[in-house]
Amino acid sequence: MASNASRGGRDFRVAALFEALRASEQQGDAPADWGRFYEEGHPGGFLGPVALRGAASAGLGLRAARRLRRGELLLLERSWALGPRGAEVPEASAQLVSACCRKLRDAATPQLEKAVFRCLHPGEGGRDEGFRQSVFNEYLRHLKCGARGSESSDLGPVTERVGAIVKANSRKTEHWDPWTLLLRDTEAVGGLWLVASLFNHSCLGNVVITYANNKDGSVALVARAAVDIEKDEELLHTYVYPFDTVLERRSRLQASYGFSCTCTRCSLEAPHAEAAGRLADNLESELQHFSAARGMGARPSDMAAVVKKMRSALARIDDAAESLPADSRQMWRSQFLWGDHGLAMAAQEVGLFAEAVEAFERCLALARLAAPSSEYELKYAMMLAQCLARWRLSAAPKNVPQNQEVLKKAMRSAEEAHDRLYGGGGRHFLTRMKRRLEDIYAALRR
Ligand SMILES: [Zn+2]
Repeated sequence: MASNASRGGRDFRVAALFEALRASEQQGDAPADWGRFYEEGHPGGFLGPVALRGAASAGLGLRAARRLRRGELLLLERSWALGPRGAEVPEASAQLVSACCRKLRDAATPQLEKAVFRCLHPGEGGRDEGFRQSVFNEYLRHLKCGARGSESSDLGPVTERVGAIVKANSRKTEHWDPWTLLLRDTEAVGGLWLVASLFNHSCLGNVVITYANNKDGSVALVARAAVDIEKDEELLHTYVYPFDTVLERRSRLQASYGFSCTCTRCSLEAPHAEAAGRLADNLESELQHFSAARGMGARPSDMAAVVKKMRSALARIDDAAESLPADSRQMWRSQFLWGDHGLAMAAQEVGLFAEAVEAFERCLALARLAAPSSEYELKYAMMLAQCLARWRLSAAPKNVPQNQEVLKKAMRSAEEAHDRLYGGGGRHFLTRMKRRLEDIYAALRR
């Protein structure tokens, strides 16, 4: 797990390990019923058309083994180790490290898995090659004699490095509430997935990941293609919130994973980072004014004045975008999506539905650009459809310019985004989004 561009070195031994893993342990069937999968989990695994990246200039990573269509299933993998649910970072990390150490000591853990775990992180300094070599030798030895479970003296250097491996490769699960469209933080759990650890990072990923709780207590990770992907193209996942400014994303990646991102998006945004930071601070403070005014139960006229200020803060951002090359404006603008979200919510609250719809449309366009097929795309597609519905419901039909077709189209586009992220087609969408769809059904009946 690392930045797309920050690794060097080639390792055929790890490729061999990965191939062996692919052949022996992970092959399985994907569940046919994705609706049930997200309710009950699935104990098996599935490895789709994914291969180890073997480029000479790059380190560990995954690539498309053939051309992939967006929404296509790439990987379904059980968690290898889990930390506690909903715990704070230091405690959660320590417990995840302990869980990994237990797996490594446990005679029931297949040697192959232990070897893959140890090869995940190249670490730093001269110990690296020798370390990986010894892991590989050990693995060969076990393959030759068919022995399992003898850890002998090799455990010493391994436990020492477990912390570093966990830090660089663990991920926190995301569970989205289908009703509020918000993350359920209390359900989040830190864990380690061996194959998914090989997805490197880009702030413009082409892979989306979702999670489901298995009945046996493990957590299933599901990776799908976020966009159409060419054969041999690297498979990249966005490790951080995609709509932060470039400086915020880079500092999070540095703190959590220890690398500085040089992806295409960062390269495009970095030269304008300072201006973006100032504009973001200004926008943030206008958003806070709105929350404060709402908290105090301000009069509608005062609320309208606060909305106006949010609008001006966003207009300044649009002005700044104008000075950028035309083909990079929208991508740069995606750093401020949360501001459009704030304006949309505020405008909707004070009854400015036309403005709210426009702001949700911007959110959706930016989410599609910087985080395609993600939960964010689904979220804004749903919020847009719901805002259109509330507009219809709030006024006499003749006062609402949109017709039923506009609303149906918005709903279909939400359904399509849902399918790319969660699979399962229309029925799964309707079951999962049931409560969210109530306004829309009511508006369609009008
Ligand atoms: Zn980046």
